Amino acid sequence: MSLRGLSANSVSHWLREPYILSGYRRIGLSPVSCVKTMFRSDNNEVVNFWTHFVPFMVWAYWLWDSYRDITDTRYLPLVCYWVGSLLYTFLSSFAHLFNAISYKFRHFCFFMDYSGIALYEMGGIIASFYYYRPLNRPTFQFEYTYLGLGALLTMSVVPITCLSRFYWRRYRFIIRSLAYMQPFLWSNTLIYVLYLFPDGSETFIYKQLYSHFAIVVFSILLVFVFASKLPERLSPGSFDIIGGSHQWAHVFSTAVTTLHLRLMKTDIDNRWPELMIQSVKPTFLTTAWLLGFCTFWMVGISSCIFVYVYKGILVEEDNNNKEE
Ligand SMILES: [Zn+2]
Repeated sequence: MSLRGLSANSVSHWLREPYILSGYRRIGLSPVSCVKTMFRSDNNEVVNFWTHFVPFMVWAYWLWDSYRDITDTRYLPLVCYWVGSLLYTFLSSFAHLFNAISYKFRHFCFFMDYSGIALYEMGGIIASFYYYRPLNRPTFQFEYTYLGLGALLTMSVVPITCLSRFYWRRYRFIIRSLAYMQPFLWSNTLIYVLYLFPDGSETFIYKQLYSHFAIVVFSILLVFVFASKLPERLSPGSFDIIGGSHQWAHVFSTAVTTLHLRLMKTDIDNRWPELMIQSVKPTFLTTAWLLGFCTFWMVGISSCIFVYVYKGILVEEDNNNKEE
């Protein structure tokens, strides 16, 4: 089967992305052929794959190298964030690599991709509570409420994003952006409170102020390109292989995560004397077990949705085969 990238007119309307006119892989490739396409320059998944697979490899090595012997529970939330980062980049690379196997598998791949992003956000919520909450305000020591609401928000992301592949398709990018934005804002609320309403416990931020500021800028850019479909909206067909909004979203998400991973350990160490005197401390139950429970839920709910829409996917696959 040819591995050459196809024009938008030659593939089913289900595969077409807005303003991307060429570089589509045909559906029905074997796993080996999918891997081979990642070493060609005529399809629009190559950059998507490498922009998340390379960070996954680097961060996995980095985690192994720096934290494999850690016994100190102070780093548990950081490791949760790290595991979330590995999950979202791995599942994203997997989805972009193998989504050309079949229409059914394509949906499955992206269900896993959405679950990975939600788990990353859950890791961020856990880390943000234990490391970045204002310490001198009693109202912000609400451990179970904050983590519980965060878990509910991230667990709601998966059904919304998965179903947006089948329903309300016209608004799918806006729906997904809004769904991801809720846990994202929740995980950043505490540090924004520290920025805007200093309570004396925020001085650690100033030691790495530029990195914190860069994270805010890259986060805004990430949401902006994802929702606006810029730059391809301005010049359809010019960013089919490289430079499209999805690829920029990968680059900005990698930048945000790398900056977080780099500065979080220093922030923890700078702030640890203050965190030590607090009664609320990370435990296995509120970090690793909570992330494990969310993983269980997300895999479960995305599998249930897959079974629920399976009949519809078969009809869709039939129509697509006729269309091609
Ligand atoms: Zn992607």
